[in-house]
Amino acid sequence: MADTYDLIVLGAGSGGLAMAFRAARHGARVALLDPGALGGTCVNVGCVPKKSLWFAAQIAHSLQLAGPYGFEGVAGRLDWEHFRQRRLAYIDGIKQRYEERLAAAGVQWLREAGRFVAADTVATESGAELRAPQIVIATGARPQRPPLPGFELGLVSDDMFALRELPRHVGIVGGGYIAVEFAGLLRALGSEVTLHVRERMLRTFDRELVDSLEEHMRTQGITLATGARISAARREGDAIVLDDDSCGERGPYDAVLWALGRVPNTERLDLDAAGVQCDVLGHVVTDPWQNTNVPGIAALGDVTGRLALTPVAVAAGRRLADRWFGGRNEARLDYDDVPSVVFSEPPLGAVGLTEAQARAKFGDSVRVYRSRFTPMQWALAGQHGQTLMKLVCVGDDERVAGVHVLGPGADEMLQGFAVAVKMGACKRDLDATVAIHPSSGEELVLMS
Ligand code: FAD
Ligand code: NDP
Repeated sequence: MADTYDLIVLGAGSGGLAMAFRAARHGARVALLDPGALGGTCVNVGCVPKKSLWFAAQIAHSLQLAGPYGFEGVAGRLDWEHFRQRRLAYIDGIKQRYEERLAAAGVQWLREAGRFVAADTVATESGAELRAPQIVIATGARPQRPPLPGFELGLVSDDMFALRELPRHVGIVGGGYIAVEFAGLLRALGSEVTLHVRERMLRTFDRELVDSLEEHMRTQGITLATGARISAARREGDAIVLDDDSCGERGPYDAVLWALGRVPNTERLDLDAAGVQCDVLGHVVTDPWQNTNVPGIAALGDVTGRLALTPVAVAAGRRLADRWFGGRNEARLDYDDVPSVVFSEPPLGAVGLTEAQARAKFGDSVRVYRSRFTPMQWALAGQHGQTLMKLVCVGDDERVAGVHVLGPGADEMLQGFAVAVKMGACKRDLDATVAIHPSSGEELVLMS
């Protein structure tokens, strides 16, 4: 006899937890399955440990300013293992609180993987069967491991958080969020870093800001190898070298990080048993309501191949729970104008359309405002690096279709502007907003 629930959630990452908590709040009887650690990628091998390292990198940058400001004797390298333990303790706290909240919410948490045996039935690894009229697939994604010779000599992002010491000389392959973030933070903490990008890094971001970020990275001493065609990794003594079809050999490196995108966790779900469709890359196909092609089965988060961001998975889960169990028939996530930040050095944030996207969509009715300046905290130390901010406006009323910020504080600055963009703010609304001075953010309401 199968145990019956109102809802089965596969995956206790950002999206699955959000779905389970919200559904339970609406009174649903929920079973939540996950063979891994509570919190999934974000908490264990994603946003949280990454941001922790980024904070450490920020302190390293501040230490570089300390001397020119006149502080004496401020220096030092990060005790990597000490900080790793602090990070783990912080993460343990998050997981502990999740466990307590699941118990308080009455969610049945099973520490096992699930797979479909029918459209309304999931089997666990230990052979139990669970049945529910509504099932959510929130099984996330994992690093892509292409069949390159010597791939196993390198690391993927998951492995970076288990390192016991800072690698001295790192070769990073890839040009996405993960590659750029690790390049910046490892360099700040003292590694020599070479970033191998096959074409252009951060292709989905506004080109002008990415060009500017590249300049910052070069100034920091990061080697940018663009046009790279890495075809293999080899061991040479204690070191690793990379074969680059465009120019021969790259390296030697103490460590190689492959950051080549992520693939969905779907192949072990026996989706055929339920009749759920996937695309050619293995993502579960969903409509704008998170529905799959099978009634009663939905999917959300990274497994769907939509924007792979924690707040997106969380918001999709909450909306779906509100619709299925909270009587809000119109609830669904609007995927337009989702803000995001690359925690590079300095951080790069964006919401809405890039200039190129806006010009392709709205032609000559696009007007771009930009501001480039040296932020005060750098200028005081005699540093000349510049931030770049850009407003992309469209139409006669100059609706703000995109806000792009590269510079210190971009990560905290953007959230409020994302609200404005979502509300349909026009340039005149920004003009009518009084600035906060002295700040970098004030530039966004002072552009002319
Ligand atoms: P996940 O969090 O991956 O959770 C999926 C869960 O499903 C896992 O716990 C897994 O064990 C479980 N599972 C798999 N198979 C089964 C099965 N058969 N049965 C039951 N459970 C199963 N996003 C941001 O917004 N900001 C950031 O700063 C950021 N930084 C990141 C840094 C890194 C290094 C990485 C890798 C990602 C980062 N992300 C960031 C992306 C973010 O982590 C993901 O978008 C988010 O975790 C997706 O949530 P999810 O619920 O879809 O999947
Ligand atoms: P991304 O999709 O961001 O980038 C993948 C990179 O790998 C691209 O530069 C791509 O190049 C390159 N690539 C893919 N295949 C190859 C190959 N065979 N050879 C060389 N280069 C290759 O993936 P990430 O793994 O960096 O991150 C996954 C997702 O996680 C992100 O898209 C983001 O949604 C999320 N994330 C969010 C963060 C945040 O919010 N701060 C931080 C980290 C991750 P090309 O562009 O040419 O295709």
